[in-house]
Amino acid sequence: MKDKVVIITGAASGIGEATALLFGREGAKVVVSDINSEVGEEVVKRIKKSGGTASFFKADVASAAENKALVDFAVKNYGKLDIAVNNAGIGGEANKIGDMSLEGWHRVIDINLHSIFYGMKYQIAAMLKNGQGSIINISSILGSVGFEGSAGYVAAKHAAVGLTRNAAIEYSSQNIRINAVGPAFIDTPLLDQLDEDIKKHLISLHPIGRLGRSNEVAELILWLGSDKASFATGAYYPIDGGYLAR
Ligand code: NAD
Repeated sequence: MKDKVVIITGAASGIGEATALLFGREGAKVVVSDINSEVGEEVVKRIKKSGGTASFFKADVASAAENKALVDFAVKNYGKLDIAVNNAGIGGEANKIGDMSLEGWHRVIDINLHSIFYGMKYQIAAMLKNGQGSIINISSILGSVGFEGSAGYVAAKHAAVGLTRNAAIEYSSQNIRINAVGPAFIDTPLLDQLDEDIKKHLISLHPIGRLGRSNEVAELILWLGSDKASFATGAYYPIDGGYLAR
């Protein structure tokens, strides 16, 4: 990862935070982005403390203009963009379709889906100038199966896989690889809203007998971002403790 420039959204917490720390350790120049500046700046401090290079840029991924500003920041600061991890996301309103508010629907689609289109639109432009790139979109196991009470989330995560495939068809021949990652339930603050009984139930859905850890997902993202994954594009990579095997 030496001298590679990477943008990671939602990098103040959970999977994004673990990914930022890992890329930092591997020698990348890391643009840590989040809506939470305070915690995002802490992640930057930790990367720098362990000898890495990083800076923070506040961006709301639901805004096209802020996605563009984030890419511009990376290119202005580090001269190019090599890798982008479109990771920021929310769990969204937990209701069945008939009870879901219109605001709840639009919010989860804005943050979990429009973000991926906006992100890729500006990242691809910068990567074409760079002559190469790798984009990793964070979908979910719920990018390929449903989950009661999560229609907006499930729709956004399925669509993220479709967008990934289309982008790969359009840009792989120009040396930009684009893939989606599908984690099962990972023990991050995203799951904090769930009570212990529900967490136990979720664990029982994973043949491996536990929830995943952020660093386990980060390792897959690192591989997809690296030149070791030179033939990997247009694919959806579940990382799920066996969840989808049932
Ligand atoms: P998390 O809640 O720990 O972290 C998400 C980060 O995104 C937070 O720092 C938050 O401030 C940031 N964020 C939220 N809205 C934002 C916005 N509009 N603009 C910019 N940043 C914003 O969550 P996590 O579990 O690490 O999830 C990261 C990604 O992984 C999400 O896309 C999520 O859907 C996906 N995912 C998570 C799980 C899981 O079980 N935790 C499973 C599958 C997929």
